[in-house]
Amino acid sequence: MSTGSTPLADELARAARDRARLEQVTFPRPARPLVVAVANQKGGVGKTTSTVNLSVALAKAGLSVMVIDADPQGNASTALGIEHTQGTESTYDVLTGELSLEECLQPCEEADHLMVCPATIDLSGAELELSSLTQREFVLRRAVKDYLAVHRNVDVILIDCPPSLGLLTLNAFVAADQVIVPIQAEYYALEGLSMLIHTIEKIRDYLNPGLNIGAILLTMFDRRTNLSAEVASEIKRYFPDIMLESYIPRSVKLSEAPSFGVSIFSHDPRGQAATSYKAAAYELAQRWADLGDQNGTE
Ligand code: ATP
Ligand code: MG
Repeated sequence: MSTGSTPLADELARAARDRARLEQVTFPRPARPLVVAVANQKGGVGKTTSTVNLSVALAKAGLSVMVIDADPQGNASTALGIEHTQGTESTYDVLTGELSLEECLQPCEEADHLMVCPATIDLSGAELELSSLTQREFVLRRAVKDYLAVHRNVDVILIDCPPSLGLLTLNAFVAADQVIVPIQAEYYALEGLSMLIHTIEKIRDYLNPGLNIGAILLTMFDRRTNLSAEVASEIKRYFPDIMLESYIPRSVKLSEAPSFGVSIFSHDPRGQAATSYKAAAYELAQRWADLGDQNGTE
């Protein structure tokens, strides 16, 4: 076999090409602020890793981005290096009506124009507290609308959801224009997806007619296994227009980055994982720009 065309050599060449191409592009901005929930009730599929790295990619490309951490685990807050000890102004205070979104935001050091509303462990009690409220599914939507009424320069708000379809995720779905669904390229990847889609349809019917699935993002893709390729082609078959062309490879660097409180763009900016998240962010930015002003909910 010629050493010039091994799979590894091909992959490295492709990564270098992708990186060079992405250095030239300008990310378009959406015509109006978009609210995007990153959700999948399946645990550990890459929701938080995707929220964190997409938000940094978008902000570094010049968009104005907010991350709302809606998971009591607070993993997105940790990974973005944001203070989130118990008692810190957080998504909990927003959902209990104590504070506005603006009062809870912290700037993220990794990029200009990246703000984070952190989650603390207090958020684990919010579902119970919300459950007795009327209009309990609309609390986050109202908070986001109040913020956007004053700050019209925000391009994208990404909401990192917990691995459940409880009231926290429902609040995110009711606040959102669209959902990004990260799917891990593994056996059982599609299990539970029909329940997620059914939930989104119900939300659209009863609570938020504007909600769509904006993208499916394949994560932890392993080029060396047939299984990853099979999962990819199966998702592509069912959701040809929704699945992003870009996918995220399995990468040790990606799993290391949160322990330093940084994204892949600080931890390993020239690696394949950073390039993939930048490519996915660019694809999303293009889709969002193509939406124009449709479905404006002013
Ligand atoms: P949860 O459901 O608990 O909120 P999640 O869906 O947010 O999980 P992550 O926390 O993003 O998933 O990822 C789960 C684990 O897999 C983490 O340890 C993360 O560092 C690791 N991980 C995520 N994406 C990748 C990847 N592409 N390659 C290798 N490891 C990854
Ligand atoms: Mg998570």
